[in-house]
Amino acid sequence: MTRGHESSGFSVKPPDELTGMLRDPQGQVLCLGHVHPDGDVLGTLFGLGLALSAAGASVTFAGPHPVPGVLAFLPGSDRWNVWKTAPETYDVIIMTDCPNPDRSEGLLEGARGPQSRVLNIDHHPDNRRYGTVNWIDPSAAATGEMIFDLVKGLGLRVTPAVALNLFTAIHTDTGSFRYSNTTPRTFRIAAELTAAGADPSLVSDRLYQQRARDSLVQLGEVLRRIRVSEDGRIAWLAVPRGLVSREFLDAEDLVGYPRSVGGVKVALLLREEGPGTIKASLRAKGDVPVNAIAHRFGGGGHENAAGCTLPGTLEEATAVLLEAVRESLDAVRPRSPK
Ligand code: 5GP
Ligand code: MN
Repeated sequence: MTRGHESSGFSVKPPDELTGMLRDPQGQVLCLGHVHPDGDVLGTLFGLGLALSAAGASVTFAGPHPVPGVLAFLPGSDRWNVWKTAPETYDVIIMTDCPNPDRSEGLLEGARGPQSRVLNIDHHPDNRRYGTVNWIDPSAAATGEMIFDLVKGLGLRVTPAVALNLFTAIHTDTGSFRYSNTTPRTFRIAAELTAAGADPSLVSDRLYQQRARDSLVQLGEVLRRIRVSEDGRIAWLAVPRGLVSREFLDAEDLVGYPRSVGGVKVALLLREEGPGTIKASLRAKGDVPVNAIAHRFGGGGHENAAGCTLPGTLEEATAVLLEAVRESLDAVRPRSPK
């Protein structure tokens, strides 16, 4: 696993330039999210933004898409703005968990003036370093871990609202502390956040125990479609448009179901977003880096969790992606049994 080496441009510690800029931020601060924000993006933007706000900074929260209903419990959600274009430029723009500036749908370009300082804080190894300052730590399970250390390092107060946001960021990116990215650091930080007022049972309740009444029927409809390859290495789920509601798709971690089949090395979820537009989620269990596969189709992500968008029909995109996954699996030598 990649560990923080300065020579690689990765670092476990925030650069001094970054902490310097945040110690007493002057002017207007924008916490900016990317398309379809998840728990790590929103939890870190709200966690850092609310901590800065409480210390007297003038903070605006915005992104191209709304806070999904399942994350509306995050403190700060009521301050979230959905923008088509940025209304003005900002002195400091903070982007978290966003490897690629294009994912702001043009909002970064609109909000970035000649004097703006852009702070790019992320744990994706393929981050494009578009900031004035870039802090990239792929050894962090979630950007939430990085923001916790940053908030503490800045001497800002970890209020219960800040703690709940950062706990949720880490909770969602680690699959509730179940994935291989979960480390002693993860638990140390989760413990400190719990002590600071984050309630783990409340987070689990909001994320997993608030399903809409009809969602289990929709889940049944979807689960019937899971397929497993003959050799058992790949499991996939292709969801045609209109089969289930958008709310259902946003609220459920559907790729977790094909991933849960024993022996499966790569799991895929393909969602038909529109005619000719197929959004794919890829998950692995350490055998092949699926971000390398996603890169081939213009996407990205982590070694064990990545995504991309493919053209064509659902059937065509599924066939293309399955072939790419097979190739990658064939290229790695089968691991000797433990
Ligand atoms: P998900 O499958 O949950 O949408 O995303 C899993 C991971 O892959 C996340 O880290 C996310 O940032 C990344 N990812 C998903 N879709 C895309 C995409 O279209 N482009 C890039 N660059 N990364 C993606
Ligand atoms: Mn993340």
